[in-house]
Amino acid sequence: AIQREELADQLQWNEQGLIPTVVQDAASKQVLMVAYMNRESLKLSCEKGETVFWSRSREELWHKGATSGNTQRIVSISADCDRDTLLVQVVPNGPACHTGSYTCFFDVCAEQESSESAPPLSIISDLERMIAEREAERPDGAYTSYLFDKGIDKILKKVGEEAAEVIIAAKNGDNTELRNETGDLLFHLLVLLRERKLPLDDVLAELKRRHQAPRRDTYDEHGKV
Ligand code: AMP
Ligand code: ZN
Ligand code: ZN
Ligand code: ZN
Repeated sequence: AIQREELADQLQWNEQGLIPTVVQDAASKQVLMVAYMNRESLKLSCEKGETVFWSRSREELWHKGATSGNTQRIVSISADCDRDTLLVQVVPNGPACHTGSYTCFFDVCAEQESSESAPPLSIISDLERMIAEREAERPDGAYTSYLFDKGIDKILKKVGEEAAEVIIAAKNGDNTELRNETGDLLFHLLVLLRERKLPLDDVLAELKRRHQAPRRDTYDEHGKV
């Protein structure tokens, strides 16, 4: 899919024949790590469809995940405007960082932590990020780890159960129960989206498209027709 020879010739390789490469989660859009590629590692990346870098410390080709199993399946490769940096979007098969962390990047300015004044909806993106971390890191005892370990059928079952609980709560007219069950449903939906690698952004974009579309939709008892 990638015309690799043309791409390689157009790139601004540095004096050592390397190009810095930003690796981003294709679904969550989180930046996972930065590493270097040389021509050979770019070629291998295109062939394998998985990230291969040049390790400057070990001075050898480095197929990410070769020892840890935490490979990165490539979704797209792009270059920046002056072609001296690559951006690789991936579906990670585990933590990107050798420390076992989902991403190599962490907050060094704790003051900027999502504060009380942050818009309430931002908790949804915080959750999406936390869920992506749990999927990669699988910390012991975490409920989210348990869901991903069990797999898609368990997650689907939970979504079904929580949807039913939302209905029951609404019928009961108890808004505390409705609030709690809606929270459960939203959480399990986010886990499902992550399991299927569907970015929440795609869902929101679809909502926006519908919102902006002229309203000549018709409905029957099954919904939109
Ligand atoms: P892996 O490629 O994940 O099998 O890891 C093999 C080795 O590469 C690790 O033991 C680390 O020395 C190094 N390594 C893995 N991930 C990273 C990373 N994100 N940044 C720097 N070095 C890494
Ligand atoms: Zn640049
Ligand atoms: Zn790291
Ligand atoms: Zn529930």
